Amino acid sequence: MIATVYNRKNPFQARLSRMEVLTKPGSSKDTRHFEIDLSGSSMEYEPGDSLALQPQNDPALVSSLLDLIGADPEQMVGEKTLFETLHDDLTITEPGPRLIDAIKKETPGSSFADAMDDPARKAMYLYGRDVLDLLGEHPEIRFTADTLLPLLKPLQVRLYSISSSLRACPEQVHLTVATVTYESHGRARGGVASTWLAERLADHTRIPVYIQPNKRFRLPENDAPIIMCGPGTGVAPFRAFVQERRVQGTNSKAWLFFGEQHRSSEFFYEEEWNAALQDGSLTKLTTAFSRDQAHKIYVQHKMMEEGAEFWKWLDEGAIFYVCGDKTRMAADVDAALHQLIEKHGGKTDEGAKEYVEAMKKEHRYHRDVY
Ligand SMILES: Cc1cc2nc3c(=O)[nH]c(=O)nc-3n(C[C@H](O)[C@H](O)[C@H](O)COP(=O)(O)OP(=O)(O)OC[C@H]3O[C@@H](n4cnc5c(N)ncnc54)[C@H](O)[C@@H]3O)c2cc1C
Repeated sequence: MIATVYNRKNPFQARLSRMEVLTKPGSSKDTRHFEIDLSGSSMEYEPGDSLALQPQNDPALVSSLLDLIGADPEQMVGEKTLFETLHDDLTITEPGPRLIDAIKKETPGSSFADAMDDPARKAMYLYGRDVLDLLGEHPEIRFTADTLLPLLKPLQVRLYSISSSLRACPEQVHLTVATVTYESHGRARGGVASTWLAERLADHTRIPVYIQPNKRFRLPENDAPIIMCGPGTGVAPFRAFVQERRVQGTNSKAWLFFGEQHRSSEFFYEEEWNAALQDGSLTKLTTAFSRDQAHKIYVQHKMMEEGAEFWKWLDEGAIFYVCGDKTRMAADVDAALHQLIEKHGGKTDEGAKEYVEAMKKEHRYHRDVY
């Protein structure tokens, strides 16, 4: 039998089988564990891969947009209603270039048009504004469904690092997702996919999914030690790694750095890590809870604190994996890696750079950051 290939054009319609809120009372965040049922799909993935999923927009936001332009939600657009089209297929949170250009053209000489010609002012103006904001701020332009729809971008899939091993959890895929919520211009807003998963999935909802392989982010095929750095939701692929090691009975050395704000409310999967330390699928766990003391402690500080042992593992050929926040964490962790190699490996600044370059060439330094 030839296995069906699922992709963006032909996703598998999966179902949520379990959801658990990982953050506990007292946390300022909302991070959740999702278990998605793949039965009937024969879908396969490896630890390190991501799941792509096609989300749906918030129906309340779709209704507000339709109210604003005075359009009939039931009006047909091809085979779907106007409401369904905006709900399922188009980006209504982030205004795209065609909508911006159309408004600019209709408002020559306006402060909006001027701001759109200046990249810095443009970015500042657009930050935290959605399609509803832009249309609301330009009531002089009378958009209709026919003129608005072609100006909207298609609704994009979102990627999530898979936090399970298929061999440990047959016919399932697990995700660890931080719900994105914020307030902007006096209105509460939410990330499309993360709030859809957290707040709007009904029993019958199908989740269109496919696997996005990441062939570079893999467990080693030999006995090389591994060091994993995954603060926040960055821990997701490392849960998959540890599960896989347990199923395979791998007992080479594995060290996990995990970080969040508070131990009491954000120590995701704590019991699983403790069990893994017991059975040897994890050798060492180092945590950094940034707000549990007066001064902030992050994973990069713990790497430095444990620098001598970190260097020993590297010297034994350890592979270093980093997953999570691209904006700050990845750079801070990279700087800490250079510093500890310099300090404990007895190298100059230049020597540490060369060592890290060699790690990259030898596929011993992998980053999956977003
Ligand atoms: C390879 C890969 C793996 C990933 N793995 C994970 C994972 O394991 N877990 C996980 O949680 N995420 C993961 N992500 C991120 C994930 O894909 C989504 O980007 C994330 O969930 C947000 O998507 P969303 O649809 O909820 O939000 P979107 O609708 O995409 O909204 C996010 C946008 O909202 C805006 N925004 C956010 N906060 C504010 C604010 N305060 N003020 C103004 N604007 C704001 C920003 O423009 C931001 O880009 C991964 C990404 C990649 C590329």
